[in-house]
Amino acid sequence: MLKKRMRSVPLNFIRIGDSFWKKHIDLVENAIIPYQWEAMNDRIPDAESSHCIENFRIAAGEKEGKFYGAVFQDTDVAKWLEAVGCSLAGHPDEQLEETADEVIDLIGRAQQPDGYINTYFTIQAPEERWSNLTEGHELYTAGHLIEAAVAYYYGTGKRKFVEIMSRFADLICETFGEDKAIHGYPGHPEIELALIRLYEVTGKKQYLETAKYFVDMRGGEPNYFLEERKRADYKKIFPEFEGYLPLYSQSHLPVREQKTAEGHAVRAVYLYCAMADLAYEYQAQGLFNACENLWNNIVKKRMYITGGIGSSGLLERFTTDYDLPNERNYSETCASIGLALFGMRMAQITRDARYVDTVERALYNTMLAGIALDGKSFFYVNPLEVWPDNCLPKTSLEHVKSIRQKWFGVACCPPNIARTLASMGQYIYSVSEEGLCVNLFIENDCELRLGGETYLVRIKSKFPCENRFTIQIAGDAKLPNLWIRVPAYARSFQIIGTDIEGTEESIKASEHRVSYKVDKGYAHIREDVAGKTLTVTFDAPATFVRANPLVRADAGKVCIVRGPLVYTFEEADNGENLEALYIDTRQPLVEEYQENLLQGVVKVKAQGKRMQMQAWSEDALYQEIPVTLEDITMTAIPYPYWNNRGKGEMCVWIKELL
Ligand SMILES: [Zn+2]
Repeated sequence: MLKKRMRSVPLNFIRIGDSFWKKHIDLVENAIIPYQWEAMNDRIPDAESSHCIENFRIAAGEKEGKFYGAVFQDTDVAKWLEAVGCSLAGHPDEQLEETADEVIDLIGRAQQPDGYINTYFTIQAPEERWSNLTEGHELYTAGHLIEAAVAYYYGTGKRKFVEIMSRFADLICETFGEDKAIHGYPGHPEIELALIRLYEVTGKKQYLETAKYFVDMRGGEPNYFLEERKRADYKKIFPEFEGYLPLYSQSHLPVREQKTAEGHAVRAVYLYCAMADLAYEYQAQGLFNACENLWNNIVKKRMYITGGIGSSGLLERFTTDYDLPNERNYSETCASIGLALFGMRMAQITRDARYVDTVERALYNTMLAGIALDGKSFFYVNPLEVWPDNCLPKTSLEHVKSIRQKWFGVACCPPNIARTLASMGQYIYSVSEEGLCVNLFIENDCELRLGGETYLVRIKSKFPCENRFTIQIAGDAKLPNLWIRVPAYARSFQIIGTDIEGTEESIKASEHRVSYKVDKGYAHIREDVAGKTLTVTFDAPATFVRANPLVRADAGKVCIVRGPLVYTFEEADNGENLEALYIDTRQPLVEEYQENLLQGVVKVKAQGKRMQMQAWSEDALYQEIPVTLEDITMTAIPYPYWNNRGKGEMCVWIKELL
């Protein structure tokens, strides 16, 4: 753990112009934010009613009516505002800002005299406030509103929303604590990391201390949630919470004693984010060790190659080590987003690039798979294998959708994708007074403030299409240190330096290998980079990857990975019944950029065999006959783009021809 952690560069200092990411990021402003605004106002024909703006009007006393929606319906407004805040940081838009300001004013009017905000409890159950921390999601909802306020402040410089939410945060700090009325903590973590962010923009230490209180209390004996449920006036909200297990909400043990990632995956990673932040703020080694143990358990034993986590479709949770079924997992998009947030914190607390490898894997694969190329439909669940006709309640695969869904009654993943895309800039760099880390190779211009100096950093990149990018850093002072991530998949990594200015010949003559020392996964540059172009190149060809044989689901199978992207086989390219395919790993993989495929992707061709059907009639279920194989060429596309060409089978792991 570093004494002084690194931070992300504020989004309004970064302009992304990347050939891979920009088309996705632009969807936030052009498609997702306008669509969600219509949805929140119930103006989408045939869509499930949202009512969430209406709920605020009723809570503000400006309209008559009843609350409608889930107990955490307010989070849709919060996540929309957070996406808007992140988007405005990169793309100012007066009209959008005006609309958002009106929503913030409405939230202010719905705030109760003591600071409280929650439309469900205000309208429907005012006497039940804080009485159901297990299921009520009050603190969770407050957390998302606080995160939105912080993002809106960073995006626009306006403090009104932060002030509104600070009044609510003050009430929370007055209500929860050792010498306060309630000695509980949230059933769904989120308030913890939100209070820490609010502390960062307000400097109010009590927010940090209350976040610490919530984390320290979790898992103590007797279990708060089990005690709460025994109360005579306890009102159940969700039928699936019958037979509640503390494991589900990571309250089975005090957090410092937890060594394996358990329970609901989104809850888990949001909690771990706060644990990492607090470990740094209080320089608490025990808490940091717990973060490392939990991280290692996830990435070494409980994570899909796509960065998906939460392998059970039941309760969206972690299960056991190496249990990674491909067709019936949950792997919620939000959980991978939370994993990226946790990993980024760990990377910035340790300056260790190995965390970024996983962050990159989660963002480029599961997060991006969550949204269609046109930005109009979304996946919650991210399987690695789909047989569409079999995704049915009677096969217990009802949760697996074979096509992206338009919008959901409970819309957690789509706005979470929106805020992630709009805030991709936060992952590119880590910075502290010691210097700058380049984490992701995304084309951008960045104005960097460091130690009283300003630097202009420019990355030009066509990664991951090409494994090459350039970086230029201009400033009046010398940059103290520069670290460039060497991805775990990179081979023959090298950095060439050339002068920026001069004649063609003098630039050519200045060409030299830049010396560096690899330090925790970063190339630590040993020369002054001012006035130079650094050209970073490496090889990351499409390659076969195998899983530990203890992963039963993948034994005898391989998958194709190219740089950060996992590849998958689709029915559209390879015909139906992908389980009948074998891949020949002795034959080379051929990469081919295809401009008109999925808005331009590198596809990968492999040689293999397909089991022949001639000897089989539909009525013969079992026969004593040998298998016959025919030669085929198979085509794989990047996993995030599957299901952009209609319904069909998909399969990441393919049987290996031995
Ligand atoms: Zn979600």
